[in-house]
Amino acid sequence: MIKNVSELRQDLVSGDWVVIATARAKRPHDFLKRKHRRPVQPKKDCPFETLKGKKVLLQYQHADNFGRNNKKNENNWFVAVIPNKYPAFGEGLCMVERHETLFNWMDGVGFHEVLVYRDHSLPLALFNQKETELVLKAYQSRFLNLSEKDCVEYILIFHNDGPEAGATISHPHSQLIAVPIIPPDVARSIAGSKRYFENRQECVHCVMVNAEKSSGKRIIYENERFLSVAPFVSRTAFEIRIFPKNHQPSFEKISHEDISFAADALRISLKKLYIGLKDPCYNFFIHTAPCRGEQYQHYHWHIEILPKTAIWAGFELGTGIEIATIAPETAAEYLRGIKI
Ligand SMILES: [Zn+2]
Ligand SMILES: [Zn+2]
Repeated sequence: MIKNVSELRQDLVSGDWVVIATARAKRPHDFLKRKHRRPVQPKKDCPFETLKGKKVLLQYQHADNFGRNNKKNENNWFVAVIPNKYPAFGEGLCMVERHETLFNWMDGVGFHEVLVYRDHSLPLALFNQKETELVLKAYQSRFLNLSEKDCVEYILIFHNDGPEAGATISHPHSQLIAVPIIPPDVARSIAGSKRYFENRQECVHCVMVNAEKSSGKRIIYENERFLSVAPFVSRTAFEIRIFPKNHQPSFEKISHEDISFAADALRISLKKLYIGLKDPCYNFFIHTAPCRGEQYQHYHWHIEILPKTAIWAGFELGTGIEIATIAPETAAEYLRGIKI
């Protein structure tokens, strides 16, 4: 009998291929490299300890500290949004194409903001329900504000957690970048879901959510309105995606009630990773419809969480494929069993 050494699985939305190692597959416990928490930078060097001298774009109070009554905040804020001191996008002329011999270029116009959480060393994975709701509310509020600005086509909300995930400051923070273009990965995802919709008159993500619900083998967690799964086409070991169960193209239109279910699904998923993989470094981001136009009704917003379990080397950089060294079905079974 032939035993395959790996599986190539095709993404139903983008058409991309991923590789799942089967012969060299690791077991969940092989990922527990870390014995201690990641290093926390000294508070005295931390730029996020005070808001003094910073332009505060949004601030939510830490009402009653949500059960963390042992701490007294100097001015009781829990999340504050400030402009990034070293923005990747900023002022300039909007969508004016210029040319340099063969090449086209334009100004990197946009916004780059940082959402700072009050506690210097409390990771997002350990936020409680109310705190996680505030995080999502802050994401939504800034998204709505920036989507009104000229030149903004797409807004990416993301969170880098830990040095291997690119967080240069250990103090927990998320970021939001508003750009004048639709980025390539997003464009592929949107084009794929549009193609599927045109061919079959249904949303590819709704179809996948229903398929995952009936099979159950890749479910990590679910509540009444959100589903957390290890995707069939996991691009990394222990990748997690969180979908609203009902069709919703745009994250920023999420209802007050849904925020609490989304926060529950995000919090439990992150906490399962935190416990199950002993505080891995990870990135997460929200994929949602572009800001403008009604032509994105076929899209279905979701959160993608990608733990850092491998270093990108020649194969990965040359192909864009990371070999997932655990099957999503095994990863889901393991995380499903982690008690919170
Ligand atoms: Zn700090
Ligand atoms: Zn849908």
